[in-house]
Amino acid sequence: MTDLLIRHARLWDSAPDAPLVSITIRDGSIESIDVEPSDGAISRAGGESDKICGTGALPTSGSVAASAGRRLPEADTARRAVPRGAAPSVAVFDAAGRVVMPAFVDCHTHACWDGDRLDEWDRKQAGASYLEILESGGGIMSSVRSVRKASREDLAEGLLARLGVMLHEGTTTVEVKSGYGLSTGDELKMLGAIADAESRWPGTLVATACIGHAKDPDRPHFVRTTIDETLPAVHAEFPGVAIDAYCERGAWSLEETVELLDRALELGHPVRVHADQFNSLGVIPWAVRREILSVDHLEASTPDELRMLAESETFGVMLPCSGLHVDQRYADGRSFLDHGGRLAIASNCNPGSAPTSSIPLTVALANRFNRITAHEAILACTASAAALLGLSDRGRIEPGLRADLVVLRHSDARMLAYEFGGDPVDCVVLGGEVVRERNGRGRGS
Ligand SMILES: [Zn+2]
Repeated sequence: MTDLLIRHARLWDSAPDAPLVSITIRDGSIESIDVEPSDGAISRAGGESDKICGTGALPTSGSVAASAGRRLPEADTARRAVPRGAAPSVAVFDAAGRVVMPAFVDCHTHACWDGDRLDEWDRKQAGASYLEILESGGGIMSSVRSVRKASREDLAEGLLARLGVMLHEGTTTVEVKSGYGLSTGDELKMLGAIADAESRWPGTLVATACIGHAKDPDRPHFVRTTIDETLPAVHAEFPGVAIDAYCERGAWSLEETVELLDRALELGHPVRVHADQFNSLGVIPWAVRREILSVDHLEASTPDELRMLAESETFGVMLPCSGLHVDQRYADGRSFLDHGGRLAIASNCNPGSAPTSSIPLTVALANRFNRITAHEAILACTASAAALLGLSDRGRIEPGLRADLVVLRHSDARMLAYEFGGDPVDCVVLGGEVVRERNGRGRGS
């Protein structure tokens, strides 16, 4: 594999006056991160003492810091120069002082679907209530009908198209849930489509079987069938997959959710749960007791339950794009972090409540409405999201980790939260390969 050297990079979490660094990538992994010497040349002559690791302490003053920001002539334009005749070839990407950060990890999406909900959105904008839309066959059951009609191939193609957008936006690792099948065969079809897409996408997909996403009102024994038939079938075909459910009024009750997820835990599955989006039904004490992977949403959690979750090892996942699209309610990320919570944020990409896959937008919203800092938001969609998905080889910039990186248009990572609706990613590196590069240097900051 072609090796890559990223020069003149500003680590996203370094002090504003810290020196720039060179990141050496070999065989898809970060080999070293070296402080650039004051003359701007690529050199590793400084030895071990000059090497730094991601969040480690960076020098913030002195001759290196003072001069490292000086641009070399070739830094005036963003470009990759591939020296000819060198073996093995080393591609050089000049970050020209822009921020380099871990690529985004989107740990909560429903990116596998078919059809659209545009008519429903028009009706909502014209004043139809949520209940009116639901009673006329809209809402999640509209997506369920579309997915049931779609072939596994159609679902995989639709997912791959969305994954292409995500990669362009800087997301290289994506969790994708099933949950629009709501029958044993259709849930297996969705999980099969996700597996097909995984085999064809260069990034990383993590599937979740969200078999408790809703209840089909036309199937009176739906909960029993899901627990007694769908779960064992998913277990047989996808033994390690995480199981997920949506605990909410009109969806799965607390008792039904606990029965499904307890059974999944007995079968050895990791477990996540959507809870407290509109109503707090009391899932958190159970989730904490059973030490499940995550509780996602949390907009309606009581302060006491949010604190209980924060003091546990279970992740809280906040989804501010749903707040923007649905009802302007947001989970209290500030309180959750202040009590020591393990916080991830995600796009919740889905056709009903979050028609976006933009992690930069998610960061901007989390900063404003979940009341967390830019730094906290970035950690929540990189290192923390990777930890939630059990992927210890990414989400941070450290030697030995996967070289999944993005270069921002900006020289200060806080711009990722401050700006919204833009396109802040200039370059995406996936497993050491540049897969997106925007020509010309941005002037964002
Ligand atoms: Zn969701």
